[in-house]
Amino acid sequence: MTKNRCNGVAVLRRGPESSPTSHGLTGDEALREQPVEGVHKPSADSVSANEALMEFLYRAPIGLLQISALGAIEMINPMSARLLMPLSPDGSLFNLFDVLEATAPQFRRMVQEYREPSGSVCEAVRLKVPPSSKANLPPQVLSVSLLKLDENHLMAMVSDVTLESQREQSLLDKKLGEAARLDKLTMMPNRTSICEFIERGMQRQDRDQCHHFSVLFINCDRFKQINDSLGHSAGDEVLAEVASRLMRTMRLRDSHNGQYENGLMAGRLGGDEFVVVIGEPQSESDIFLVAERLLRALSEPYRVADQQLHLSVSIGIVHSTTSSAQPDAMLQDASIAMVEAKRRGGARSVTFEPSMHERAAGRAQMENDLRRAIVNQELFVVYQPVVMLGPTVDQWSFPRHAAAVEALVRWRHPVRGVVPPAEFIGVAEECGLIGALGEFVLDTACRQFVAWKAQLGRLAPRLLAVNLSRAQLSDQEFVAFVSRTLRDSGMDPAELQLEVTESLAAQDESVQATLRQLKASGLSLALDDFGTGYSSLSSLHQLPVATVKIDRSFVSQAVQSAHHRVLIEATVRVAASLNMNTVAEGVESEAQASVVRSLGCEKGQGYFFSKPLLPESLVDWLKSNDS
Ligand code: C2E
Ligand code: CA
Ligand code: CA
Repeated sequence: MTKNRCNGVAVLRRGPESSPTSHGLTGDEALREQPVEGVHKPSADSVSANEALMEFLYRAPIGLLQISALGAIEMINPMSARLLMPLSPDGSLFNLFDVLEATAPQFRRMVQEYREPSGSVCEAVRLKVPPSSKANLPPQVLSVSLLKLDENHLMAMVSDVTLESQREQSLLDKKLGEAARLDKLTMMPNRTSICEFIERGMQRQDRDQCHHFSVLFINCDRFKQINDSLGHSAGDEVLAEVASRLMRTMRLRDSHNGQYENGLMAGRLGGDEFVVVIGEPQSESDIFLVAERLLRALSEPYRVADQQLHLSVSIGIVHSTTSSAQPDAMLQDASIAMVEAKRRGGARSVTFEPSMHERAAGRAQMENDLRRAIVNQELFVVYQPVVMLGPTVDQWSFPRHAAAVEALVRWRHPVRGVVPPAEFIGVAEECGLIGALGEFVLDTACRQFVAWKAQLGRLAPRLLAVNLSRAQLSDQEFVAFVSRTLRDSGMDPAELQLEVTESLAAQDESVQATLRQLKASGLSLALDDFGTGYSSLSSLHQLPVATVKIDRSFVSQAVQSAHHRVLIEATVRVAASLNMNTVAEGVESEAQASVVRSLGCEKGQGYFFSKPLLPESLVDWLKSNDS
């Protein structure tokens, strides 16, 4: 091996017989190099250290070059020539920077800008070799390192890292692929994986009629409230905890793998929606028991942001035997059942039945109609008087002025006529329209109330009661809205009473905080439908209410049932001891009015006194009852 010099290019060549062309080493020449073995084998004794080094560089499976500071190639081994040739625009290898100009122009600049007297200019810079038809198998990715030897010389190392880079790429692809099928927050399978899993279950069922599976669609009840009151990062913590409880309860460990033994999978669809797929043939009652287990596990208290939270979930169950034949449609069925579970109060599981489709469609229609109703002003408010019950039997027939009026919303549907609130309040709550609806009622009623005061003087109602929904109380802006409405209408806050149900008032810390804020703004609160919720007389003192409204279900039994009379009387006493007054709701007869009055109820409301009335009719009612 010698170091030949030709046109300023030193080429590491094997044996004195090979001479470089007058144009330097051409690509063809370099590629024509023979394997080293057996062609030139100098005896061990005759090989000088220098020769051995040359031999080593010649054989090196890596491209080695010496270049000048301007890139002129001074020495090059065959591997370099082979690797670099596909990059050379004219098939010659005189100057490394020229060779690399098209693919990696930065090398020239890097060398110019490298100020140290010696050292590593760059290490393992990757460059892609453009595909060439010239060479049979051009390397696709090269790695180039430059080492500055002194002011005028650099060493370059070039290697083919195609395989390595392919391996890296496929690893990256795999990771990306996995990431695309994984939910980032919980590291559970995401919608894509869940659908694929269901799809496989469906294919298996097609092949094997005995194979059934079930999908459980899990949605947190009132999750928005957590996000709204504690912030999204607390919400995320809760979701992560829900995910790990799901995995634990289902005894699933490997959340990264979409495939599980026994055909079991748990994943997150997004938001607060999770899915469990149970693929082993099990009976419907087994699946129901699994759902019960999940309901229990997920309703244990959560500790987030230094607070203890209570959360429940609603579960929709669908069995592959009764569901649609597409994964998306099956999930849709499961979600319809979940919505039904929510509608029945949440914290429960409901199994999908095909008839639910029609009901869901009906509700969707109702939702659409309701949106339009708000825009088209099809909603209106009626007012039901609340009267004072006199101290003696014949006095219950008054003072006949209305102690209060309760505002009740109505919907004049263009086709169905007047729709009662029971049919649309729930829909409005579910689809987020309750805010707009509630604002409409409060605003309308406050203005009406102020107008009556101006119009009727002493005959005007003294208090306005307006019903509140859960969603309104979790809305951060609600307190400000109430204050604004009172101010704009010119109403005294003390004249407004907001009615909440027991279950709502007793609910959680954030609702209670809103209630306290409302109370602090000068209005009062009433506990609606008392007796139908979960809280009892013993917890009445914890609620910031001024009035307790005894539910119609008690009042309607008061005449014939001693048991109900006892309950009413106890309520009246406890309320009185807490400085709260009581209203008997749904009084329909003289006998009922008489009984509730004798039990100590101060006020009564019901068809016996008056049905809810339009504003004009209420004025007539007030005038005709003026004693
Ligand atoms: P509620 O707050 O308990 O209202 C009393 C309901 O009982 C009213 O039904 C009223 O018409 C009815 N009622 C009154 N006296 C009698 C009676 O002697 N016998 C019978 N059978 N019923 C009587 P309505 O107006 O259909 O309202 C039903 C529920 O809808 C209300 O129950 C309330 O929870 C809700 N609601 C009504 N308006 C609104 C509103 O503006 N916002 C909200 N969030 N909920 C409302
Ligand atoms: Ca009410
Ligand atoms: Ca009520």
